[in-house]
Amino acid sequence: MFNVNLKDGAMNTSTRSSGQERCQLQPGDVLLVTDIQNDFLPGGSLAVAGGDEVVPVLNRYIAAFQAQGLPVYATRDWHPEGHCSFHPQGGPWPIHCVAGTHGAAFAATLVLPPDTTVISKATLQDQEAYSSFQGTDLDSRLRAAGIRRLFIGGLTTDYCVLNTVRDARQFGYEVFVLTDAIRAVDVQPGDGQRAEEEMTRLGARRITLEGLAA
Ligand SMILES: [Zn+2]
Repeated sequence: MFNVNLKDGAMNTSTRSSGQERCQLQPGDVLLVTDIQNDFLPGGSLAVAGGDEVVPVLNRYIAAFQAQGLPVYATRDWHPEGHCSFHPQGGPWPIHCVAGTHGAAFAATLVLPPDTTVISKATLQDQEAYSSFQGTDLDSRLRAAGIRRLFIGGLTTDYCVLNTVRDARQFGYEVFVLTDAIRAVDVQPGDGQRAEEEMTRLGARRITLEGLAA
């Protein structure tokens, strides 16, 4: 009985202290900026509440990676017209991020370095892809660049960020979720919160700008 109580106490302590981490950037790190596109920002066809708020935060992450000479990748939803995920096609979403349109363009306020690697996803009419690894060459590019740790922020917590984190963990990358630079769609209230918990279960670590500045 006494031993059981001791164990319980230890567990509670480690749970309480596991919220945020500090970490120093190093070679083999990459910043993955997810889907900062006009259609996902206020005024867009699939606007995410507060989606614009992550842009200045991501700009600071970008600057931090650039200062260390580390690579920045940006993903984008890049659908053909009549994509299977659109309402007229029976899909779950309004028409959004049609390749080449203003809605699909990166936010004008996002300051991407000139040598940013752009990854386009869900480019086939009959296939949805929430993960930036799905149907793209992201994994082979990261491997070729010697990347081991992936720092991911952007939109949206409960779809593209979650699914990209899941694949990244499966492919063996260390993952840091930028908790101050993600926002959720929250189709069902609490989806974003549940996605954050799932990412933690998958072994992703949580970090903020403050933790990165260590
Ligand atoms: Zn889409």
